[in-house]
Amino acid sequence: MLVKRCCAILLALWGVQASAQAIYPIDRATMVVDGKFDFKVEFDGVVDPSSVTITVNGQPYEKVLGAKAAFLPNEDNGKASSYILRDISIKHPGKYEVVATAAGKSMKVNWEVYATGPRTAKNVILFIGDGMTVANRTAARVLSQGIKEGKYMGKLSFDDMPRMALIGTSGVESLITDSANSMSAYTTGHKSSNNALGVYASRAKNNLDHPKVETIAELVKRKTGMAVGIVTDAEVEDATPAGMVAHTRRRSDKSEIAEWLFLKGADVVMGGGSAYFLPKSTPGSKRKDDNNLIDLFKSDGFAFATTATELKSAVKPDTRKLLGLFNTGNMDGSLDRFYLKGGTVKQFPDQPDLTEMTRKALEVLSRNKDGFVLLVEAGLIDKASHPLDWERSVYDTIMLSNAVKIAKDFAAKNNDTLVMVTPDHTHGLSLVGTIDDNAKGTEMRDKIGVYEEAGYPNYPAPDKNGYPPSVDVSKRLAMFYGNFPDYYETFHPKLDEPFAPTVKNDKGQYVANEAYKNVPGAVLRVGNLPRSADTGTHTADDGVLTAMGPGSERIHGFMDNTEVFRTMVEALGLGYDGKTKGKTPAKPATRR
Ligand SMILES: [Zn+2]
Repeated sequence: MLVKRCCAILLALWGVQASAQAIYPIDRATMVVDGKFDFKVEFDGVVDPSSVTITVNGQPYEKVLGAKAAFLPNEDNGKASSYILRDISIKHPGKYEVVATAAGKSMKVNWEVYATGPRTAKNVILFIGDGMTVANRTAARVLSQGIKEGKYMGKLSFDDMPRMALIGTSGVESLITDSANSMSAYTTGHKSSNNALGVYASRAKNNLDHPKVETIAELVKRKTGMAVGIVTDAEVEDATPAGMVAHTRRRSDKSEIAEWLFLKGADVVMGGGSAYFLPKSTPGSKRKDDNNLIDLFKSDGFAFATTATELKSAVKPDTRKLLGLFNTGNMDGSLDRFYLKGGTVKQFPDQPDLTEMTRKALEVLSRNKDGFVLLVEAGLIDKASHPLDWERSVYDTIMLSNAVKIAKDFAAKNNDTLVMVTPDHTHGLSLVGTIDDNAKGTEMRDKIGVYEEAGYPNYPAPDKNGYPPSVDVSKRLAMFYGNFPDYYETFHPKLDEPFAPTVKNDKGQYVANEAYKNVPGAVLRVGNLPRSADTGTHTADDGVLTAMGPGSERIHGFMDNTEVFRTMVEALGLGYDGKTKGKTPAKPATRR
């Protein structure tokens, strides 16, 4: 009797609540033919499997997707049921309509599965200027090239690439993206959510259980003999480099991400973040176990370097695998490493520049006859823009330009390399004029020149690397962030240490850091962000992508960030069905 009543109640619940709540991949997802993904259907109540139908293009899903999904009767703390089918792919291009129905209620998504033409690029190099805003480019050009009578004396290395597009960076759940979500779109071709890497953010409780989508690194390792390189000046486990290999709902899973760098077969890994490679018994380790990942990489034949000097000698003529870890955390940017010696430069005085890492990565990766995919991240552009430290952010934009120059020179030799340079998102930074210490006035704002009063700054001529050797000049750029917490605006560069605009008060709110209160001329700028924000935040303003080389013809106008993935797989012919579609390239690259 009791059993009967329970069933009656459950049936009533199915009738009331059951409907498809989410399908992953989501509506309007685009996927390359034979790209791997996990398929998940989430109902918003507990459902009776006998009441469920899931179809793809009107056929039972098993027929199209090739296998039967597992039924999860009690997800979401027993409140709802799901179906999940992992590691599948669709072999035929076309439009796919997925309909999931339970107890008479249904939900529908549409996917596009695309094929590609034949391979036109041997290599792909993707440069990410993390958080690089148009103002970063402008200021880097002013400082590194100079400008006279309105005309620049030169260009940044990525200024004269033949292709350019505006990039939309928003994610599934929000206009404003973080670096995990946005990098994931570049590396998988799927939109995701903030903090998520290589997965759709579903209702799974375990970070690692969410529906996965294959990354470009996994795809080339599975389908070709290509090499993969991951270079950054942030931690190698940070969101952007992690986007090449990780599948987690939380970018903070850095111990796992360090392991994936190894397990996913990356051939070159360089950056900061050694703390997640060292066993917990080692001072400075951030691991919770005794695994020594450095030993693991070394035992697999990786050359290893911890300083710029070691990097020079670590790469031998036959080196095919290279690990470089140059800081326990993020590396230091060029303004600190070359000039100010702030940050962790005293602790790590011999960190390589992004140019040296790029050069070594290209040297090692280009030994692979099947080509390579290389990510190079200038991560500190973003790390400096968060605390409103524009000078550091702009110096690292110059550094990115120097690193891109090396890639351009490499690409120029054979014209078989697609090079793209793009931010993953932007910051609210603008160049509004100049600040002239010698201008009349008692307040610093009186000394800000706009329009004709701005004139030009008086930074010293750039050195051979394109950096003015000093930022501490009497007439400098006036650059401000539009979204900020409470902070003291000093109108001066931070010469000792990177800026720390806020501190936490006893209520857990972020307030202006009083350490800057007595800087002559400093004013309190009352924040326009919630008091939970300790720094400036990302913006939804479009990013500017520039590109050159085979496959870059796709780059134009406004593009969604997922189309960057498509550009890479098209260039590498990763969805080529053997039938020539469109023009055969004049000189096809070798393909295993
Ligand atoms: Zn950021």
